[in-house]
Amino acid sequence: MSTITSKLPQVGTTIFTTMSALAAEVGAINLSQGFPDYDCSPELIELVNKAMKDGHNQYAPMAGVKALRNQIAYKTQKLYGASYDPDTEITITAGGTQAIFTAISAIVHPNDEVIVFEPAFDCYAPAIKLMGGVVKSLELEPGNNYRIDWAMVKKLINNRTKLIILNSPHNPTATILHEQDINELSAIVKNQNIFILSDEVYEHLIYDGEVHHSMARYPELRQRSFIVASFGKLFHATGWKVGYCLAPAYLMHEFKKIHQFLVFSVNSAVQYAIAEYLKNEDTYLNLPAFFQQKRDHFRNGLAATQFELLPSSGSYFQSVKYGHLTDESDTTFALRLTKEAGVACIPTSVFYTKGTDHRVLRFCFAKKQETLDDAVNRLLDFKL
Ligand code: GLN
Repeated sequence: MSTITSKLPQVGTTIFTTMSALAAEVGAINLSQGFPDYDCSPELIELVNKAMKDGHNQYAPMAGVKALRNQIAYKTQKLYGASYDPDTEITITAGGTQAIFTAISAIVHPNDEVIVFEPAFDCYAPAIKLMGGVVKSLELEPGNNYRIDWAMVKKLINNRTKLIILNSPHNPTATILHEQDINELSAIVKNQNIFILSDEVYEHLIYDGEVHHSMARYPELRQRSFIVASFGKLFHATGWKVGYCLAPAYLMHEFKKIHQFLVFSVNSAVQYAIAEYLKNEDTYLNLPAFFQQKRDHFRNGLAATQFELLPSSGSYFQSVKYGHLTDESDTTFALRLTKEAGVACIPTSVFYTKGTDHRVLRFCFAKKQETLDDAVNRLLDFKL
């Protein structure tokens, strides 16, 4: 038999698949993988139906349906004051993950260094390694609310530094970038040949009146940035796997070279439907209030448990600390909560290269109120 040399020997099955499968197997409430347990708008489903009936069933243009790219350009201009050319600076992707992979492939050459803040979403590092790049991780800690120490970032920069990956609102920590972070970042990359990959898939899931600091707002940062966004997160339809990437033309030119041979184009009917649906700006402007209500409800419930709640400023996640309750590793404890309490969550050590375990668990609150109540009740009943 032939043998294969793994390109990713350290990589197993993603934690999201593992925990969702376990939750299904043991009948636990699944607050692990981030996705809603309620449906997307019937109007949106109608629009997909209509697009199919109207005959939009063949390949979309490689960069995506023009009407959708136009809507995205309008939205980005309106929200962030940035104009992106729909023809040369916007590409529709098969979800955020494909956009991230494609951007990393377009930028990273062998031995290039990429700065990643950990805990980090688990698709960044494998893509960097597949390109022969080197992950330079900077660990953030719950003790100071996962604040980025920019002096430490500065120390990591050298002439091999090619890319910095940012993610705000952040998965899994639910923190957001603030104006001061933007200032520090701008100072660090100024006059350097460093690019930015900004994972902004939770851009509209931001709470307490905070502002989303998109890279699109800052001309100096924007001209070196790939910005990734997700319609799955926006419209409660993660299974449709449609997102997009924004980048200045010289970067998007390289992105598209890879995109065309990775997916060629994304399913057309959904794109036509979203283009139509986006015309109603309330569909995304109402999201912060919609999710903040869920966050508050879940936090109120969790407050009665023995867990220590960490802040949640954005995304659809709420993390808790439990180190004062048991010495178990977060993975062991997450498995036990899933099996014994009947509530699945994500252990956050999996998002650190070194497996750093701060005894922090991540729960997804993009769920119906009764699901959240049921989960809280199970956690209250759980005997350690
Ligand atoms: N973004 C989702 C989460 O963090 C999962 C995405 C995935 O499963 N690839 O839970």
